[in-house]
Formats: sequence, structure tokens, C-alpha cells
Amino acid sequence: KAGENPQIKPELTKQHLAATKGSVITRFPPEPNGLLHIGHAKAINVNFGYAKVHGGTCNLRYDDTNPEAEEQEYVDSILEMVRWLGFEPHNIFYSSDYFHQLYDLAIKLTEKGLAYVCHCTGPEIKAQRGGDERGPRYACKHRDRPVAESLAEFQKMKEGRYASGEAILRMKMDIQSDNNMMWDTVAYRILYASHHRTGTEWCIYPTYDFTHCLCDSFENITHSLCTCEFIMSRESYYWLCDAVEVYKPVQWEYGRLSVTNTVLSKRKLLKLRDKGLVRALDDPRLFTLPALRRRGVPALAINAFVRELGVTTADTTIDVVRLDNHIRDCLGEIAPRIMAVTHPLRVVLTNLPEDHFEQIVLPFKPNDESLGTYTVPFTRVLYIDSSDFREVDSADYFRLAPNKPVGLQGLSRAITCTEVRRNVDGSIAELVCHYDTSSGETKPKPKTFIQWVADCPKLGSPVRLDEVRVYNPLFKHDNPMGVGEGSDAYLSDVDLESLVVVKGAIAEVGLWDWIKKYAATEVGRKELEKHNVETVRFQFKRIGYFALDKDTVMTAADIENGQFGSAKLIMNRIVTLKEDPKK
Ligand code: ATP
Ligand code: MG
Ligand code: MG
Repeated sequence: KAGENPQIKPELTKQHLAATKGSVITRFPPEPNGLLHIGHAKAINVNFGYAKVHGGTCNLRYDDTNPEAEEQEYVDSILEMVRWLGFEPHNIFYSSDYFHQLYDLAIKLTEKGLAYVCHCTGPEIKAQRGGDERGPRYACKHRDRPVAESLAEFQKMKEGRYASGEAILRMKMDIQSDNNMMWDTVAYRILYASHHRTGTEWCIYPTYDFTHCLCDSFENITHSLCTCEFIMSRESYYWLCDAVEVYKPVQWEYGRLSVTNTVLSKRKLLKLRDKGLVRALDDPRLFTLPALRRRGVPALAINAFVRELGVTTADTTIDVVRLDNHIRDCLGEIAPRIMAVTHPLRVVLTNLPEDHFEQIVLPFKPNDESLGTYTVPFTRVLYIDSSDFREVDSADYFRLAPNKPVGLQGLSRAITCTEVRRNVDGSIAELVCHYDTSSGETKPKPKTFIQWVADCPKLGSPVRLDEVRVYNPLFKHDNPMGVGEGSDAYLSDVDLESLVVVKGAIAEVGLWDWIKKYAATEVGRKELEKHNVETVRFQFKRIGYFALDKDTVMTAADIENGQFGSAKLIMNRIVTLKEDPKK
């Protein structure tokens, strides 16, 4: 069994049931000292999900007891990400909401003789706990000071009459216990730091160990779900609730989630950014939730990924390929398909008249009418991707080569290269091709149909993509920490070429049509108003899935006119179409 329901005093149970009416209440308790990451997506799904299946509710509680590390920016981002994943907190609370209640209980605990003010230094406390040699443990001289003295000292701490580190309030637990969380854990410490919500009202702050269980209790949390590193804290959690005689929630643990080829810890992420190895904490190569969203990963794919893993007590590092597969499954359903060319090569179909002009109607998603259609021009000059042409043909090559036909997507016809025109430096300037108009038996049957974009400026084709950002794995190894010694090992594993910025890519006008169509929907309008441009996603046929990056500049007028006007389009590659066969 994951947890055991400890004995609870009958009257506390009664009060608890009166408050909850028997329903499940959970909470997601992040500390607002950084951005949420893929591991938190599991915690969010576990807490909100458990409450949901049991018809209960889940609170968001900011665990803000370390004023030095916490910022409003993170507070805002956390709520945004919880909502992005599709969850709405029943209540939004802060541990700091309870600073007065917590303080009162600290007094109560001291009055009961179960806490004392201690003036030992860090090294002294370490020695009392047996030191590195795990020697005998012993109490400090403050442990048995009179209650009245501790109360007076605690008052002095609160009044700012001690410098930071000169006094702490410790819980009088069980120094001889096998569990180090019972070795008179610190309840309050002195910090002269301004808190993001309470300002300079306090100079003493409760610790996580003192705060967490009591806040759970105040909120009548029925199941305090936390990650496995807190298993040893379960005993102290229950001890404190019992000691101050409050309702005691049940603590259950589950395993932490991580994925390969990344680091998640806040300190490590900050270092990557500060050293310029990534552009920001939401750099799409990272696995913070803002980074994943920015990259264009749908929230649904993240939820499906963490749900598939289930809830066990094992800490797991999952191959990131599994997340990619969920992303592909999800985008395969929702992303419109259009043609884009990342490295354009000009093609002139010399057997068509100069003013040849056709309108081709294409579905945004083949075999699915729900996404609708769009129209692209087909003209005498068009662009294909230079990777789809080879001057030296071979039998196992099925794309364009001299005298070899290749099909054009959306047209059941082929082109054949008849001449390669060169620049003075010898590079290829353009291809002269023959557009096949034959029918019946003589019609060539190409093995491959490649994407193309018409050169038709009067209809806004091609649409220029200012940048296409291709994200390869940030690290060279699956386990970036494994490449060396020490906590900075991962820094030397960063692949400095992992971001490839492609300039000069183009797309067909369907790109604008879809943006307009998206902007016209209720959801789309709301998202774009919030500048969540990453919700505009495409499948670029034969290339991969792409989303607009938030660096995109796009005005309402641009969308309205369906012209690129002043717009500056930046696309992120979310994933390739298929798993990399090398993996
Ligand atoms: P980190 O140091 O990675 O930011 P944390 O535990 O300090 O992690 P919190 O903000 O305290 O981060 O986490 C809020 C909740 O999310 C906690 O209940 C925590 O146990 C859970 N959580 C954090 N990281 C993971 C993870 N990798 N997998 C599952 N749950 C996690
Ligand atoms: Mg943390
Ligand atoms: Mg934490």
C-alpha cells in the first residue's frame, strides 16, 4: 500500500468531513521559483486527475516560503501552464496566506514543549546528527531550555533582534530515530528578505517541513500526493499534525518523471541560459512547459504522454521519442497540411505559356473534410526544394534528376528536368523542366510526388518565412549528466549546433488561409489575442510539423488582409514526420 491512514482524533475527522462532505481534495503545490517542466505535468495530472476521477477538487497552492527565490513572474507562468494543460484550480492559495496561522501553531508547539529555539551553527548541528562518519547523535544544549525561554527567544527572532543564522526554531522530535527527518527538523529560520506577497512584514519564515503538512491540513486536503523523495518526510508530516492537534491528511508518494536528453532542475536551467547555451528558459529545446508550448507541442500530447506512463512509485527517465510519438499522433489529427520549401530551387516549366495560371483546390487534410480546403495558384514558374533534385541520377533515387520525372503534389502530373541553368560561379540557378500533359498509356507514373510553391506574387505566393528554426536534441547524449563528474557535467554535453536557423524558406498561400481561418474561430481569436501564436500549427508536407514562434510579428491587419505586409513569420519545427531511424 502506498500510504497508511494514520489514526486521527474523532473530533478532527468530524470537522474535516463537515468541511469536505466526504469528497476528495488534492492540491498541486509548486514553489514559484521557476518555470514548470514536463515532470510537473505529471504532478498536475496526478493531482487534478485523482480529484477528478473521484468527483473531488484540486487546489493550486503556491508554496512560497523561500522569499529569496520566488518571483511574481513565476507565479503567473505556473497558473498559465496549469490552465494550458486544461485544468482549472478549484482554489488558488499561497502558503504565505497562512503565515499568521503557521506562526500561531509554532507558538502552540513551543508551549507544548515540542519546539525550542536553538542557536547552534550549521556545523554544530551536523555534528549533533552524527556528522559524516554517522557517529552517535546527541541533543544540543538548547533542547531542554525552559519553554518560557524558547517563547521569548522566538519572539526576539520575530522582532528582528537576531541576525540571520543566529537562531532557529527546531521541532523536538526523536533524535534517535532511524529517520533523519525526525532529527529535530528546523521549523522557522530568520531571513531578511522581501517576500513577493508579504513584503517585509516577516523576518522569520517557516520551512517546507513545517509548512507543507499544516497547509494541507488547513485546506482539508484528503490525499497529499507527492514525489518519492518525500517518503522519509511522511513520518515528520504526521508527527507535526499530531503535535499541534490538527486534522492529518494521508500522504501518498509517486515517482518523479524525467525524459532523456534534458535537465529539469531550475538551477541547471538557469546556468544553461546564463552561459548563453540556450536563448531563454522557454527555449524550445528545453522541456519546461513554456518551452514545449512555445515549440508548438499541444497540451493534449503532453497529457497523453504522462497518462500513458501511469502512476507508480518508480522514478523514471522516459525516452523522449515516446513524447515525440504522442506529439505526432496528436498533430496528425489537428494540423492542416500545406506545402513549404525550406531551400527553394527555381523551376521554369518552359512548355507552359508565360501567363499560364490555374487554381488548384487542396484539402487541408486529405480524407477529412472537416478542416476544409484552400486554393493555390499553379504557374509557369515554381519552387521546389533543392534536396529533391540531383544531377547524378541513380536507380534507387525517385525524385527529380535530368530526364527523370517526379510528380507534383496536388497535381496528378509529373515534371521532367530537361536543362540545368547555372550561375557564373557554377552553382545551379534554375531548372528547366517539362510539364507533362499527356494522358492514358504515355502518362508517366512517378514514384514520388514532391512539394512545390508557385511564383505568383499577385496572389501573395510564395509566403516568405523569415526564419525556420530547426531544433535538434540539445545534448549529445541521452544522459547529459553521465558525461562527466560533478553537477555541471551536462554543460559540456551541449550540442552547440542543435539550433539550425534556416532563412529563405517559403510556403504556399494556404499558410495565410489557415491563419485567417484559425483567427476567425473563437478559440483561435482568443489564443492569438493572448499572442499564443504557437497554437497555429502546420504539417509541412514531407518535412515535419511546425508552429509559429512567439517571435513572430503579425498584426490584426496582416491577418485580415491575408497578405504578409509587415508580418515577420518565424516557424519552429515541432517534430519531424517520422522517428529518426538512427535512434
Ligand atoms: P524541481 O526542483 O525540479 O523544480 P521541485 O520538487 O522542487 O522540483 P516544486 O515546485 O516543489 O518542484 O514541485 C511541485 C510539485 O510537483 C511537487 O509536488 C513535486 O513533488 C512535483 N514534481 C516536481 N518535479 C516532478 C517530477 N519530475 N515528476 C513528478 N512530479 C514532480
Ligand atoms: Mg524545486
Ligand atoms: Mg519543491
